[in-house]
Amino acid sequence: MIQMECDILVVGAGVLGLSSAYYLKKGNPEKSVVVVDRLGGPGQGNSAKSEGGYRNLFTSESNYLLADSTIDFMHHMEDDMGHDLKLSEMGYLFLYSEEQYARYRGALKRIEERGSETRIIGKEELKGMIPGLVTDFEGDEEAELLGLEPVDMGVFGAKCGGVDADALVRAYESEFLKAGGETRYGTEVEELIIKPVEELEIPGEPFVWQDVHITGVKTSKGDIEAETTVVATGVWSEKLLDPVGLDSYMRPKKRQIFAFKDSRLSSLLEVKGFNSYGAIPLTILPKAAILFRPEFSEGTFWLACADDLGRAFGLEDEPEAEEDYYTNNVYHVLVKYFPCFEDVRPVNMWAGQYAINSFDSLPVVTGEEGLIYVGAASGSGIMKCDAIGRIVAAKYAGEEGAELYGGRRFKVADLGISERNVERETLII
Ligand SMILES: Cc1cc2nc3c(=O)[nH]c(=O)nc-3n(C[C@H](O)[C@H](O)[C@H](O)COP(=O)(O)OP(=O)(O)OC[C@H]3O[C@@H](n4cnc5c(N)ncnc54)[C@H](O)[C@@H]3O)c2cc1C
Repeated sequence: MIQMECDILVVGAGVLGLSSAYYLKKGNPEKSVVVVDRLGGPGQGNSAKSEGGYRNLFTSESNYLLADSTIDFMHHMEDDMGHDLKLSEMGYLFLYSEEQYARYRGALKRIEERGSETRIIGKEELKGMIPGLVTDFEGDEEAELLGLEPVDMGVFGAKCGGVDADALVRAYESEFLKAGGETRYGTEVEELIIKPVEELEIPGEPFVWQDVHITGVKTSKGDIEAETTVVATGVWSEKLLDPVGLDSYMRPKKRQIFAFKDSRLSSLLEVKGFNSYGAIPLTILPKAAILFRPEFSEGTFWLACADDLGRAFGLEDEPEAEEDYYTNNVYHVLVKYFPCFEDVRPVNMWAGQYAINSFDSLPVVTGEEGLIYVGAASGSGIMKCDAIGRIVAAKYAGEEGAELYGGRRFKVADLGISERNVERETLII
């Protein structure tokens, strides 16, 4: 049963599906472009669960280009296109021990030379800027037990901050609809349809000697035929790609966010010298990949942590945050550097999953024979979404390079697999 036909079908209405759909429709106004998602609205997969942090500080030149141009476009969306994305350019502050700083020094120099607007801040200056920050743990046996290193340096990135990920997704959706695209929510894709290019109408097709291609999808509401199917289903991509023998080049891993609203944290909003808000930037601790940032629209702080070794890979449909992960793990480290968190408990918490490409930590845009796959965003799909959407559209058009916002170019094949050409990212949080 055929429910509908279209030229381009995008499966997945997350930030990558909708940014791709927008550029596909914009570049091909005569083509019908349809986005489907199994959930009831846009961004309800992992996009809206994100911390919404963005940074242009990456060791990989490709990552830098993807993020830096997306940041510029998000400002353009706010300033010129009428979308309130709640962009707050508070900056990112990496707190480093002496050993960590020495390890990253070379990469940080290259980052600075690209014009990433970074500033190195010494320990004494940091203490003056952030009231209450503890940098030294001499004589603190507990800190020694936790293996905490003194803070020696801060690396501050000014062109970094936070965005309302839900608003960003909705902005792409509204631009896509304005351009004439169509969305269908509550439509679950069950499988990709694979057929011979030359159909012979013989039972048992496709045979191994036939050339095959993807001709659309089977959904909960009937089949959709499409000349090109874009799979943008985030961590769920393996469910569609595995059955047809294609790789998603990522593994899902749980990530959690804890939100705090407490007057004891007010000193973090009286921090001078980083941003126009007089607030602490998004701050990354030297230990346990713990980071937090103010969320100005709610008057809260959002804390995330990226546990790696010991945290299993595996797809979870409804991952739940673990309060004891905060109280028994994160809390003990956090409170040593920022004693203002003492006895402060989260008022809200949630969990989602990263689609981790642990080989080089960059996204993948690949595919052929009627299919484009975009994913493996490795925990930074929000901050690179605009560039990735443009690259998907350039791949569809068969162009060698995509023009990113601001005019810089990106070679499409660099994010593919067969001619992949990206530098492995080392500044991972
Ligand atoms: C806790 C957390 C914090 C994060 N923090 C940041 C951050 O600070 N900055 C940043 O840049 N990134 C961050 N990320 C990562 C970011 O959220 C992702 O990289 C990004 O959302 C990926 O977008 P996507 O469109 O690929 O996936 P998703 O947003 O997950 O979209 C996939 C969509 O596909 C749909 N779908 C799946 N299967 C089917 C099917 N069979 N049929 C129909 N529809 C289907 C889903 O319903 C979903 O809507 C964070 C992620 C998490 C979990």
